[in-house]
Amino acid sequence: MEDCIFCKIISSNSIYKIYEDNWTVAFLDIAKDVDGHILVVPKKHVKNIMDCDTDTLCKVMDAVKRISNHLIDCCAYEGVNLLNASGESAGQSVPHLHIHLIPRKKKDGIDAWPTFAGAKYELETILERIKM
Ligand code: AMP
Ligand code: ZN
Repeated sequence: MEDCIFCKIISSNSIYKIYEDNWTVAFLDIAKDVDGHILVVPKKHVKNIMDCDTDTLCKVMDAVKRISNHLIDCCAYEGVNLLNASGESAGQSVPHLHIHLIPRKKKDGIDAWPTFAGAKYELETILERIKM
């Protein structure tokens, strides 16, 4: 897609690409907020998880798994956090599906899990609203 920054990265020779296969690309996040912050994206332009077909999503998650295994088997990491914002209200700032992958080590001091303010409703109330 013409105006999409991630589509541009996918079709470029960015030196920050760490992985590529027929369907996906992974590259370093420009934020430099945490060492090894990686974004895994489908080559096909899809906006977010709601917009993504199952095959594409499977390819993205397969790449996430391969990269995670590589980080742990070859790069001395011990775990990963996976984060995704789908939709503007969820905080998605780039409208091309991406999984944030944060490599982790014990006692690395990274706080990758949001501190929520506490639920407003009882579980039963929410259950009634969202049960499928
Ligand atoms: P989100 O807010 O979940 O949509 O995440 C978008 C991410 O894309 C942010 O972490 C940005 O730092 C990152 N980002 C934006 N532009 C670029 C770029 N040109 N290269 C690499 N990462 C980028
Ligand atoms: Zn795109």
